[in-house]
Amino acid sequence: MTGRADRPPLTCDTGDPVCGAPARPYPAGPRCDRHRPRTYRPE
Ligand SMILES: [Zn+2]
Repeated sequence: MTGRADRPPLTCDTGDPVCGAPARPYPAGPRCDRHRPRTYRPE
């Protein structure tokens, strides 16, 4: 693959099993609204 991706379908890669929800790109990786680094709180 070359060049910048044109909006790949990001999915949250956090959780076990993986969340898989629609996500946005963060420095730490794709995170959904629930798993944003600032709001992420494991139960
Ligand atoms: Zn998530």
